[in-house]
Amino acid sequence: MPELPEVETVIRILNKKVKGLTIRKATITYPNLIKTDISIPEFEKELEGRKIDNISRIAKHIIFELQELVLISHLRMEGKWFVYEAGTQYEQKHVEAVFELSDNKLLVYTDTRKFGTLHLQEKSKFRTQKPIQNVGPEPFDSSLNGQYLMDIMSGSNKHIKTVLLDQTKISGIGNIYADEILFEAKIHPEKRASSLKLRNYEDILNASKRILKRSIELGGSTIDSYQPEQGIDGKYQNELKVHLRKDKPCFECGRIIQKIKVNGRGTYFCGECQN
Ligand SMILES: [Zn+2]
Repeated sequence: MPELPEVETVIRILNKKVKGLTIRKATITYPNLIKTDISIPEFEKELEGRKIDNISRIAKHIIFELQELVLISHLRMEGKWFVYEAGTQYEQKHVEAVFELSDNKLLVYTDTRKFGTLHLQEKSKFRTQKPIQNVGPEPFDSSLNGQYLMDIMSGSNKHIKTVLLDQTKISGIGNIYADEILFEAKIHPEKRASSLKLRNYEDILNASKRILKRSIELGGSTIDSYQPEQGIDGKYQNELKVHLRKDKPCFECGRIIQKIKVNGRGTYFCGECQN
């Protein structure tokens, strides 16, 4: 599943390839992709003739800025955007949307798991509407500090790992990076959010910023099938310290990394370093 660093990498690539181009024709081949309450022909027609001014991101939502509209894409498990030259042969099997662009380019959305979504909203209002309205601030938000995290998280009696994954509190941390962040902050994933001290929340925030920034530099992590561009892998998976390292020795203390389930999510940690 793409997380914040992977989505950041995707938008950087999309900006390089399609920013400034105009959507000539839009074809939606999988109607359930569209979560806005208009018909598919209307949806397609709204997009046609619109210039892609910019592609930005709010947490893991990709925002195609189309003059006074925004097209909001969430990749969920396996969604991917590809850019091709018109006339290129490409795999048709899981294609859900095709945008013919100016400059003889094709922008194609594919999704083998079919969980991804597209919303079309007015640019002036989308921050107060679904699906963006409840998205919490990112770790990089300059207004965040340890006290802020403590204020919004320590009222919860849930495990800290579960609270970190709650995108309404802080956004952009998914399962892979939550494990890595808690390892760096030396906090057991099953600690109750209510039991953590200010110092713990400061450590979590600092680890979040450092790990996500480093992963963005490396183009994200390639686990499962995520690739920032076709045939190119992200590199952060080589720096993972606990995630997917069950039964391997901890880099810090040598003890064996354990895997447990926390709220149904596979969770890796070192019982010696994290307590
Ligand atoms: Zn350890």
